[in-house]
Amino acid sequence: MRAIIEAARHGAGSAEWAAIPVPETYRAVTVRRDETTMFEGMLSRDKDPRRSLHLQQVPTPQPGPGEALIAVLASSVNYNTVWSAIFEPVPTFEFLARYGRLSAEAKRHDLPYHILGSDLSGVVLRVGPGSRRWAPGDLVVAHCLSVDLEDPAGHDDSMLDPQQRIWGYDTNFGGLAELALVRTNQLMPKPGHLTWEEAATPGLVNSTAYRQLVSRNGANMKQGDTVLIWGACGGLGSYAVQLALNGGATPVCVVSSPEKAAVCHALGAELVIDRAAEGYDFWSDPQTPNRKEWRRFGARIRELTGGRDCDIVFEHPGRETFAASVYVAARGGTIVTCASTSGYDHYFDNRHLWTQLKRIVGSHFANYHEAWRANELVRQGRVYPTLSTTYPLAQAPTAVRQVQRNQHLGKVGVLCLAPATGLGITEPALRARYADHYDRFRVPANRPGTLATT
Ligand code: NAP
Repeated sequence: MRAIIEAARHGAGSAEWAAIPVPETYRAVTVRRDETTMFEGMLSRDKDPRRSLHLQQVPTPQPGPGEALIAVLASSVNYNTVWSAIFEPVPTFEFLARYGRLSAEAKRHDLPYHILGSDLSGVVLRVGPGSRRWAPGDLVVAHCLSVDLEDPAGHDDSMLDPQQRIWGYDTNFGGLAELALVRTNQLMPKPGHLTWEEAATPGLVNSTAYRQLVSRNGANMKQGDTVLIWGACGGLGSYAVQLALNGGATPVCVVSSPEKAAVCHALGAELVIDRAAEGYDFWSDPQTPNRKEWRRFGARIRELTGGRDCDIVFEHPGRETFAASVYVAARGGTIVTCASTSGYDHYFDNRHLWTQLKRIVGSHFANYHEAWRANELVRQGRVYPTLSTTYPLAQAPTAVRQVQRNQHLGKVGVLCLAPATGLGITEPALRARYADHYDRFRVPANRPGTLATT
């Protein structure tokens, strides 16, 4: 690994990268098949990823046709790693086993350990046969849609492909590791003005928010729209806020602390609801929705917007908020959902949907084109990585626990082969050009580059 770290440090060329011997093994963050029952009978919040996640040495896979082996300089924590680490809703080994039945190549993924992680920034170390666009030495980020596109259904929108998978969740060899195996059609140019850890931050959430909010496959946001954004200081939300502002919409941000409200203001949002301070509780008890609270929430939104309802509700908390989201959407508005963090058995009052011609749209990650467009916004300095804290790879389990407990701001980074934070900027002039914006968009409470020492 030392040769890789040195090559990344001095900006080696393609020939030098191609000549670096591929290590036979590498360190990776895994869950293990023989431990999937370890949390049985426990409440979700008590299932501690620090018990189920391991840093272990694993054999290096060979890149096949259409694949690339990446030297991972940095990664970031996504909520899907929380799900994998607590084996909910099902152990991800089920996905690996199903994938393994597809072909001999896919069978490589069906292992007794699952290497997690769906983001990376790094350098192409090797490409498999047939790669035309990418070569050793290319500085890259990877989006997390893994699809071979052999099925006709994927050729209109690759997210509709029946063999579409999320890399590092539905597949093995993910990004929380020193090396990662991806398809070459996951690769995108690393934004040169960002450090390794910053560049590894936006990928999954920025692409997801882009499809969910901006794309015609999602809510197709327009200038002047009012957009309610749940978890506006979280992974998805902090990008949805930026996309809403970029697109001439008005975000109404929902958060749960003054510190998070301050982040939303720093991102440029004016309208913020602190749901904890205002004490919304949309359920009287686990089976009884509290309609009075929906109305109180709707009235608060109108108070902030000068009487406007929400053209778009950016949903992901799920059961706890969904009925309120349907209620507060404007006549003809869209509730666009990509998750159910608080529970997937949703309730809502359908009268509010049909009589006011609202629509519910399901959204999931992004196709390559959408991910590429989202990455271009980062490269153009229009979307900024909302990185708060960065952990070393060995402390990834602690980082995942922080996200599970909703103790983070924006995104949490992980250094993989990068020996320190602050490295990897190849376009300092661009960095300087964006500096003012960068300071404005910086997650204030935990500065990017802060290396956690816990
Ligand atoms: P995150 O960084 O943890 O942010 C989620 C935010 O949601 C939190 O900051 C929290 O904000 C808010 N929240 C959590 N529980 C809530 C509740 N019961 N009521 C209201 N707000 C609540 O996670 P993320 O990366 O944004 O991901 C969020 C969800 O989307 C996860 O379930 C994840 O698996 C899913 N996801 C799906 C896709 C996809 O492609 N389908 C992609 C990315 C993420 P406050 O406490 O400040 O309100």
